[in-house]
Amino acid sequence: MNTESTRKIRLIMKLRNMGIKDTNVLSAIETTPRENFIPDAMKDKAYEDMALPIGLGQTISQPFVVAVMSEALCLSDRDKVLEVGTGSGYQAVILAKICRRLYTIERHKPLLAEAQKHFDALKINNITALAADGMKGWPQQKPFDKIIVTAAAFETPPDALFEQLKIGGIMIVPVGDRVNQVLKRYEKIDEDTYSVTDLLPVKFVPLLPNVASAQEQIEDTYQLNG
Ligand code: SAH
Repeated sequence: MNTESTRKIRLIMKLRNMGIKDTNVLSAIETTPRENFIPDAMKDKAYEDMALPIGLGQTISQPFVVAVMSEALCLSDRDKVLEVGTGSGYQAVILAKICRRLYTIERHKPLLAEAQKHFDALKINNITALAADGMKGWPQQKPFDKIIVTAAAFETPPDALFEQLKIGGIMIVPVGDRVNQVLKRYEKIDEDTYSVTDLLPVKFVPLLPNVASAQEQIEDTYQLNG
């Protein structure tokens, strides 16, 4: 057995020990090569349970957090899901292996182009990806059964996302400032009522408005390398 698959099995065992039970989530993680989504210099860390930089100041989430978020969505193969924050595209692939169709939005165009290459290489054909401001959701495709936001909303999630969620639908979103964030699960009871559960403390990059400007991309790259 090669070391990559040994590391992968160790990661799956760790996720089980940490309480992840959804077998669809565990098998999606087991069958997705995380190394594909990680820059060459860090590929040996692909099966460590840690977030890693992917360029433009952004990160691929820690596998445990990907697993918790995916499990908390209670996904079925009938679900139409919206992801805000495509990043590397790793979380998108995990979700797309379980749900019917995944819509994913990223504000950094170069990251989205890279993610799209990974979807094609892995022959995942139920993902539709868009370079846009995900704080506005995807009105043309609403309503969604589930919504996942993989960047931290300051104080409260954007209203547009609540509005585009089906009644009975679930939204998972980290909420807080750069220092203190809590992963929250919202369930839409009716048009104006939600139940909210706190899942765990997390650390995500911030959810920012608008598509990233060329200047911002240069600054983010500088921060990453600097
Ligand atoms: N799900 C990703 C992790 C993404 S990191 C993965 O599996 O790799 C968070 C991402 O959210 C970053 O790429 C960031 O650019 C993006 N983001 C932040 N605010 C956004 C917004 N308003 N709309 C779309 N993407 C956003």
